Amino acid sequence: MKINLRVKLTLSFILVVLLTGAISIIIGFNLILDKLVVQAQSTVMSHLNSSELIYADDVDILNLEINRISVSEEFIEAFLSDDRTKLQDLISTRRNELSIDILNVTNANGRIMVRGRNPDLYGDSVIGEIYVKKTLQEKHSFSGNGVFLQTYLQKEGTDLGQQAIVRIVKTPRSRKGDRLIEDRGLMQVATSPVIHRGKVIGVIYGANLINNNFGFVDRMQRLVYENEDYDTSNAGNVTIFLDDVRVSTNVRNENNDRALGTLVSEKVYDTVIQKGETWLGRAFVVNQWYISAYQPLRDLDNNVIGMIYVGIQEKLFQDINRQTLLFYILMILAGSALALLLSLYFIKTILTPYKTLIESSKQLARGSYIKVDIDSRDEVGDLARAYNKMIAAIRERDEKLRDQTEQQLGQSEKLASLGRMASGIAHEINNPLTGILTYSSMLLEDFRGTEFEEDLQTIVDETMRCRKIVKGVLDFARETRLEKEKANINDALKQAISLLERHYNFFNIEIILNLDENIPEIMLDLNLMRSVFSNLAVNAADAMPNGGKLMVSSRFSPKTHLITIDFADTGIGIPPENLPKIFDPFFTTKEPGKGTGLGMAVTYGIIKRHNGTIDISSEPGVGTKVTIELPIDDEINYPKPS
Ligand code: ADP
Ligand code: MG
Repeated sequence: MKINLRVKLTLSFILVVLLTGAISIIIGFNLILDKLVVQAQSTVMSHLNSSELIYADDVDILNLEINRISVSEEFIEAFLSDDRTKLQDLISTRRNELSIDILNVTNANGRIMVRGRNPDLYGDSVIGEIYVKKTLQEKHSFSGNGVFLQTYLQKEGTDLGQQAIVRIVKTPRSRKGDRLIEDRGLMQVATSPVIHRGKVIGVIYGANLINNNFGFVDRMQRLVYENEDYDTSNAGNVTIFLDDVRVSTNVRNENNDRALGTLVSEKVYDTVIQKGETWLGRAFVVNQWYISAYQPLRDLDNNVIGMIYVGIQEKLFQDINRQTLLFYILMILAGSALALLLSLYFIKTILTPYKTLIESSKQLARGSYIKVDIDSRDEVGDLARAYNKMIAAIRERDEKLRDQTEQQLGQSEKLASLGRMASGIAHEINNPLTGILTYSSMLLEDFRGTEFEEDLQTIVDETMRCRKIVKGVLDFARETRLEKEKANINDALKQAISLLERHYNFFNIEIILNLDENIPEIMLDLNLMRSVFSNLAVNAADAMPNGGKLMVSSRFSPKTHLITIDFADTGIGIPPENLPKIFDPFFTTKEPGKGTGLGMAVTYGIIKRHNGTIDISSEPGVGTKVTIELPIDDEINYPKPS
């Protein structure tokens, strides 16, 4: 199948464009994706940091309030007075005012003096609670996270105990386990020693229960995500975990309820709770993927007791991704289309000159020499210039050839009509000549030895000369019969030369024979060929009265199937104006009686009858060369290669 250049070029250009396009899409895709992921993660990370700060702030504020109470005169006075109800009233009021879940006071032994929430229960020891114990021991205030057991919370009030209870809910991908409820409370705790006259006389402590308390997480959500223009309020979330359980969250489940009691995934649990490290990445939260960050929450002894979590729905980033990538792909496609259009344009500009060249060469084959009009300064331009030169050369050669053939045609027509006339005359003269010769010969016999003998002899001789001329004319006019036989042209040459060599005309002429031994035999009239060669040799000798060289050569070309014979002399040459007349019968430059002007005419006739050509070229003062070409008869003479 022939695929043209345009299709080939177009296909390869398209291939290159598509390949680069595809590669840049793949590379760009990944780069953009990476960048977006990094950006998403750093956003989430900064949200996490904000959340931690706000969470820590809440603890600090609680701590501040507890401290303020502990140093107030009113409180010290109530503490020191024997009236317990006075202290009870004060603490209960403060707890309400500040809306703290737990606000209790102990004595120096860690026994409860008053409970702000549950006035009926007092006198029990809370020294086991690490915060109280540490405050008494180290005599300064503490704040932070803690886990309070259900039994303790019950003492503060059944409602508080109830608030702490979170039912465990199973979700896909969450941690497996067989716990059914979480009844401990995750607390923000702050303590202060009660000091009188430099001595610690008790402890005041406050605590807020995080379980089922959504104040912090919702405030966080408002603060952090407030300015972000997401289509759902649920786009960014904050969660507080007690151990692996969501105890306060604004992550929603399918029913749009807070996803309390759901568990974290095993992977996150392992990283954050077990190893105490920050976790950043994709996480499947309850029912969808989030870009998430988890940070451990620690108690006073630095044990990990829970986590703080922030996340942004991956969906949102995927939307941004999708938009960015769509834009990117559109850009690449537009770029590719542009590249393609450009390459098509270039292909057109490259191919147009070739089309012009092809068109012009077709015209050339039809015989019109149309030059191409391409003038670019590149290889195509070079090609066009070379092509135009070639056209000019072909034109010149064609015109020369035409002139030559016209000349040759004229020559052979002229010779043919001359031949017809001459042979007509010769025929007419031949018969009377025969009569004259017969009768004059008879008379010569009769009058031999008399005074008429000499005159009669002259008549016979001159008549013989006339007959010779007539025979020559008939030879030239192709009127005599050819007697062809299979022979070697070299033999004819050798015979003719060896006869002439001894003639006195050739005494000071060097004859150089150069014969090709591989010439095939052809059908020849040997007698006529010999006379052709002696004609040429005699002409050459006549042209070299003071001696010179005659070079006779023969050769055969298997390519053209032609035998070529050259007669080249170093004689006087022929003036150009005489060249067209050389083959005319009776054209001679020799003095009367010496030349008949028939030699070349007869030679021409004989060569024509062997289907050959004869040509003469000459330079006056330098020499003359006659060239004969004879075709070999392929069927008979030239064995086919086997
Ligand atoms: P002739 O020899 O009788 O003159 P030809 O037909 O043989 O007649 O030759 C015609 C003429 O061509 C010659 O008279 C001579 O002028 C010229 N000619 C032929 N051969 C040669 C040659 N080898 N060198 C120079 N002139 C030549
Ligand atoms: Mg002659």
